[in-house]
Amino acid sequence: MITSIIGGGPSGMFLAILVKEARPDFKVRLFERNNRVGKKLLGTGNGRCNYTNIDLRKENFHSENDSFPMEIINKFNNIDAIEKLKQYGIYPTVDDRGRVYPLSLQGSSVLDFLRYKMEKLGVEVILNEKIDKVIKSKEEFILTGSQTYKSDILVVATGGMAMPQSGSDGIGYRIGRELGHKIIEFGPTIVQLESDFRRIKEFKGVRIDTSARLYIDGQIQDEKTGDVLFTDYGLSGPAILDLSRKAIEGLKKSKKVEISINLLALEKEEIYDMILYRAQNLEGIEFEKFFNGIINKKIIQSFKEILLFKSKEKYDIITCNEKIIQEITNLLYDFRLKITGYKGFGNAQSTTGGIDTTEVDFNLESKLVNNLFFIGEVLDVDGDCGGYNLQWAWSSGYVAGNTIINRGR
Ligand SMILES: Cc1cc2nc3c(=O)[nH]c(=O)nc-3n(C[C@H](O)[C@H](O)[C@H](O)COP(=O)(O)OP(=O)(O)OC[C@H]3O[C@@H](n4cnc5c(N)ncnc54)[C@H](O)[C@@H]3O)c2cc1C
Repeated sequence: MITSIIGGGPSGMFLAILVKEARPDFKVRLFERNNRVGKKLLGTGNGRCNYTNIDLRKENFHSENDSFPMEIINKFNNIDAIEKLKQYGIYPTVDDRGRVYPLSLQGSSVLDFLRYKMEKLGVEVILNEKIDKVIKSKEEFILTGSQTYKSDILVVATGGMAMPQSGSDGIGYRIGRELGHKIIEFGPTIVQLESDFRRIKEFKGVRIDTSARLYIDGQIQDEKTGDVLFTDYGLSGPAILDLSRKAIEGLKKSKKVEISINLLALEKEEIYDMILYRAQNLEGIEFEKFFNGIINKKIIQSFKEILLFKSKEKYDIITCNEKIIQEITNLLYDFRLKITGYKGFGNAQSTTGGIDTTEVDFNLESKLVNNLFFIGEVLDVDGDCGGYNLQWAWSSGYVAGNTIINRGR
């Protein structure tokens, strides 16, 4: 029985290992268009590879077919992934946000073990081979790249569109479509947000470990904690990437999208008390000096302009006046930026949309074409920031792999 896998990302490699391990009698062939497998995996989690999360819920996974992701995840969850990868040599460490990394904190060690395992088991890895066309003829698949290959079972593990420079440029959608599958409209997610705030460039480089809230048409939608990084085009950092999915949904519906940043990472009452204390003790001090030591110097002038714009009061000198204390508190606690756009696939960590999951069964086999499987990001499933996309890669690879090993018995 020949099993061919298109794509040497985490989902494809994991499936190849599972199948070859359980069925040494199978010929397992993995095609990778790059000159090495796992290029994207190396860059995950800032090179540290956040490969799952201790806290795993339904809300962490998204699909048009809402209940579908958990049907798969429940068959192979975060604990299963940690255990299985441990057997392969990858020992976990967990940070204070539940994110799981290899103890070495190096993504390269995860990749090394997957490659080692494939080599040891005898998975045939064919590098520099871009499969461009697939047709199903009678009982077999005919794959065409630089040459033609025949296969009994085909697994499409080509990834989505995020970071196309790593090799996942959406070709899996075309292969799926040509085999009769419907594609849910795709777009970037876990991506930086753009703002048209006039003075944004002055904020560039300011990083705050705080909370960010997403507002759509003035209504709070979500709140995330973590680093917020100001850039010359808008906002980045884990808290923003986490909010990007809902922000993009709002933008696509032409709604007013805003991100509110707590500039001091303190409760509102604490900020009020601090400002009051400073105003009492520093009464009559110039605006710039008052904020020195509280917020980054780079942004003090912009801050003044915003306060002037908001209240039409003069703010050259700080006085101990309740209205002023309140306005400063509000601005520090709820620094709001209008979001006007988002970065593209080149910056994104994942893809929304993809192969319609209503056309695959709960073993990830096509309902339209026998022995055709889809796994990983190519499917219409995406996870939140925090290890959930790699969890999807392991879960989907496992579920399809576990089905394939029972073929021909
Ligand atoms: C910068 C960055 C950081 C990330 N960090 C994290 C993180 O810390 N935690 C987390 O959970 N997720 C993270 N992700 C997301 C995660 O990496 C992906 O969801 C995951 O790699 C998807 O796995 P996959 O196997 O489906 O596809 P991919 O990893 O995209 O692999 C697909 C492979 O298929 C190959 N291929 C494509 N088409 C063909 C073809 N026609 N022929 C041959 N080969 C082909 C590609 O070259 C590629 O190697 C990150 C993503 C990015 C971009």
